[in-house]
Amino acid sequence: QPKKSLNFIETLVEEDIRDGKNGGRIQTRFPPEPNGYLHIGHAKAICMDFGIARDYNGVCNLRFDDTNPVKEDVEYVDSIMEDIQWLGYQWGNVYYASDYFQQLWDFATDLIKRGLAYVDEQSAEEIAKQKGSPTVPGTESPYRNRPVEESLELFNKMNSGEIAEGAMVLRAKVDMASPNMHFRDPIMYRIITDHPHHRTGYTWKAYPMYDFAHGQSDYFEGVTHSICTLEFEVHRPLYDWFIDQLKNDDYRPRQIEFNRLNITYTVMSKRKMLQLVQEGLVRGWDDPRMPTLCGLRRRGYTPEAIHNFIEKIGYTKYEGIIDVSLLEHSAREILNSTATRVSAVLDPVKLILTNYPEGQTETVTMVNNPEDENEGTHEAPFSKELYVERDDFMEDAPKKYFRMTPGQEVRLKGAYIVKCTGCKKDADGKVTEVYAEYDPETRSGLEGSSRKVKGTIHWVTVADSVSAEVRLYDRLFAVENPAEEKDKDFRELLNPDSLKVLNNVKVEPWLKNAKALDNFQFQRIGYFNVDPDSTPENLVFNRTVSLKDSWAK
Ligand code: ATP
Ligand code: MG
Ligand code: MG
Repeated sequence: QPKKSLNFIETLVEEDIRDGKNGGRIQTRFPPEPNGYLHIGHAKAICMDFGIARDYNGVCNLRFDDTNPVKEDVEYVDSIMEDIQWLGYQWGNVYYASDYFQQLWDFATDLIKRGLAYVDEQSAEEIAKQKGSPTVPGTESPYRNRPVEESLELFNKMNSGEIAEGAMVLRAKVDMASPNMHFRDPIMYRIITDHPHHRTGYTWKAYPMYDFAHGQSDYFEGVTHSICTLEFEVHRPLYDWFIDQLKNDDYRPRQIEFNRLNITYTVMSKRKMLQLVQEGLVRGWDDPRMPTLCGLRRRGYTPEAIHNFIEKIGYTKYEGIIDVSLLEHSAREILNSTATRVSAVLDPVKLILTNYPEGQTETVTMVNNPEDENEGTHEAPFSKELYVERDDFMEDAPKKYFRMTPGQEVRLKGAYIVKCTGCKKDADGKVTEVYAEYDPETRSGLEGSSRKVKGTIHWVTVADSVSAEVRLYDRLFAVENPAEEKDKDFRELLNPDSLKVLNNVKVEPWLKNAKALDNFQFQRIGYFNVDPDSTPENLVFNRTVSLKDSWAK
């Protein structure tokens, strides 16, 4: 289908195609480091990388930038693949930066031979101290001009296990006075001896730094458009510099940067998420409060909801933070048109229809989705004793209270109009039963049901309803932008009330058949889905979002 307007990345890609660059070939990649689960920020990158390939007859590959064995694991590789496919995308090939370790090693060796790289024996702290600042040139390392032969020999020893971790690094010899800090003799290799790599085991002990591996991996694969987030803009000249030293053909990947996604009341960093998981501050990577894709999935977000959100936020060159209520709004829009309407009473109180025949049960028909006729209907039992929400009854109600109060009529959704007659209270004044009389002429579908009453409430029967656990989620953090509070540990900023569990919820019996991750609208309350913890004996629901929309358009 035709697009309304192109974003700046699509515009650049179309220009390249028009100019015949790379013979019109389009190749992108999504390059995660397998050191954590994907989050909603990654979804923004995925939609762009895979979207460009899809829209311009290209291919998008999945490349794992696995250059740091200390933090990487196959668990992450597997989850990343699952989440990308869940979003509806399929890669062309799966590549690993580790597949290029030999090629990168050979290039590094070549750079040493040409006097463009050297082994530095200073500590990381010393090297950092010599970096200078953007306005103050750095200091050259005393090892900068050591003989090529010496560097070559030490580089080999860095990889053979003869040199301890941290004792030496390989640095590119670029320019210690460059205004671009990344040119000040960046580190190309470091030693890691005691962590097996998830694919190469203990074969390598010298590992390429991300900045040495990333740009070249793009180059080796033939990536035409290397799309990434803005923080890599300042790295781009270094990626180009490396390729310029090593190659003399015309082909170059074109890097295009866009703004990272940040969302209020959460963090968007794998490192911080890992900490929350490891310290038990959330239940796991897929805790429904987490901004991870598996967390959002468990929470009831669908791929369509994520795509709806990503389309709304767009791609620009400006950093900012997106209001979480826009994410919730995006889910609501999708769930409104797809979620089956059901009845669930979160805080039940008994309603007794005093004139309804004892022991009788009838069946009423419930519309599955008023937004979509094709969704059909389902049946629910109706009888004398019902549960309704405690706050749908008030003994002394204000004028505009259109629910149950003595003398007032209300419609029981899909069933009858009833007139409230009173209630029973315990010694503390707490309401234990509400009473009403039903009007047999007003059964839904009968002529009498068209009578005007101001309120409609939901209900379930006492006898047939099923008990359920409901998990209500709120924002994970108590402050709008936890990343900005530099003087505080982000863990102190967690919202202590981000999870509230209700154990006495009554849902209609039809929900016994619900499967994990099924989406529902609990009428008048919000969107809920079935948690994977749920069993037919022990139903568990998560609140995806409430019905009330706080997004100001
Ligand atoms: P984190 O900081 O959460 O660890 P990362 O950038 O280190 O994330 P990578 O695995 O390197 O994670 O990311 C893979 C791709 O996803 C990169 O191209 C990166 O630019 C992109 N990406 C990561 N975070 C975001 C975000 N918040 N918004 C948009 N794109 C992102
Ligand atoms: Mg990264
Ligand atoms: Mg990172």
